[in-house]
Amino acid sequence: FQVPTPVNEPILQYSANSAERSKLKQALSDLRNQQIDVQMRIAGRSVMGAKKVAMTCPHDHQHVLGHYYEGGKAEVAQAIDAALAARSAWASMPWEDRTAIFLKAADLSATKYRMQLNARTMLGQSKNAYQAEIDAACEWIDFLRFNVHYAQQIYSEQPISSPGVWNRLEYRPLEGFVYALTPFNFTAIAGNLPAAPALMGNTVVWKPSPTQVYSAGLLMEILEEAGLPAGVINLVLADGPEAGEVVFSHRDFAGIHFTGSTGVFQTIWKNIGQNIANYKSYPRIVGETGGKDFVVAHSSADAKALTTGLIRGAFEYQGQKCSAASRAYIPASLWPAVEAQLKADLAAIKMGGTEDFENFVNAVIDAKAFAKITSYISEAKKSPEVSVISGGNFDDSKGYFVEPTVLLTTNPTYRTMVEEIFGPVLTIYVYNDADWKETLALVDSTSAYALTGAIFAQDKYAMLEAMKVLENAAGNLYLNDKCTGAVVGQQPFGGARASGTNDKAGSYLNLLRWVSPRTVKEVF
Ligand code: GLU
Repeated sequence: FQVPTPVNEPILQYSANSAERSKLKQALSDLRNQQIDVQMRIAGRSVMGAKKVAMTCPHDHQHVLGHYYEGGKAEVAQAIDAALAARSAWASMPWEDRTAIFLKAADLSATKYRMQLNARTMLGQSKNAYQAEIDAACEWIDFLRFNVHYAQQIYSEQPISSPGVWNRLEYRPLEGFVYALTPFNFTAIAGNLPAAPALMGNTVVWKPSPTQVYSAGLLMEILEEAGLPAGVINLVLADGPEAGEVVFSHRDFAGIHFTGSTGVFQTIWKNIGQNIANYKSYPRIVGETGGKDFVVAHSSADAKALTTGLIRGAFEYQGQKCSAASRAYIPASLWPAVEAQLKADLAAIKMGGTEDFENFVNAVIDAKAFAKITSYISEAKKSPEVSVISGGNFDDSKGYFVEPTVLLTTNPTYRTMVEEIFGPVLTIYVYNDADWKETLALVDSTSAYALTGAIFAQDKYAMLEAMKVLENAAGNLYLNDKCTGAVVGQQPFGGARASGTNDKAGSYLNLLRWVSPRTVKEVF
């Protein structure tokens, strides 16, 4: 048995007058005319929470997309029981049979549900058609198919044997349940965090972000339609800290698969630490957290490629990516050209809702994000160390709109060069060309994070020097390219330092965390 070697799902372009654009428009208008209700799914059944919460469109406050029903500790406990009850049958199912379910979910997502996945991501998370397509369609499908490929590699890796002795490794799932705590910013990540451990035979309690429930509900439907047995993934809708109290104090808690903020991850880690003596096994803690991702240019860099990399890296999906470019170091000799092009290109960018297929920039996710991002901008406007190169305006009267904002600072450790903002704000520091070495040291030492980074240089010696100094400053390093947009199967994704446990989503390294192998030596 060999699963086919996957290829990346081709990206649909949704160009004007194309059949795919009209299908996506239809899916958007169908959703506009209905209210979606999302309920918890525990042991294969819908469970109604007591608290009704409205889901609204980030770029249109008037547009209520539907409701979800939030549960409490009792439902979280119920979901854990369901996961534990389903575990033994699921874990003993041959992996080939588990695999077929995820491959079918990929096929359903690529065909029957593709437009709806994209439409929900466009309306619920305010992604434009392209950003939705590369996330909710392509990346989600790729995770499902490539994980199967990597699982096959893992299961087939065996120790050597000798005459009279047969040695083998059994890749068993973890003993207990896995908790998947997932972010709003990628539908694909929200789906992969429960799906990857489940593929390896684990049963899972999945709590999505409140601002991603609209598309999470559909992911759950797709997995169930593909044949996922009841109780293998249990979708709970609950307050995070409340759910955490139940999960992390449970004896059978076996691991967490997390993407979200550094602060939340550190709190979780402390909670786990406090309970460590209670668990049956040491839990696997797998997390991808924040970033303060850098772009550093050498004087030999191509100014045009650099500027495009800055704009796409900083402002696609409103900078709401852990990987987003948020601090840049530009040599004085290149700055005039880069500044002029940044201003011209950003002046041409359109901002607005997602449904008209014209806007590059849409809304940020919610009121809390809007308040946080705009407080950084307002403070920067008052600072004598900062000038606004482009953007700087914001307006939440219709939706949570923040202009792509470029700040120039004379202080390389100004707040917006150091702290994660998670929004469309890029801060630039211009250095003297002669200070290249000092600048590299500065890039490395300024931030606690180490997720992504980009180096722009045509001079190969300069490039190598930067790669050496910045050896530990990024888990995903881009040379002469933007620092976002890792593709499953091509650029395994994750970072170290304050950015996470660097377990590389979209690779066998991640899947290895969800197995607890048994070594068997048999003498015959
Ligand atoms: N994988 C995404 C990228 O490469 C970022 C994921 C995230 O924001 O968590 O851009």
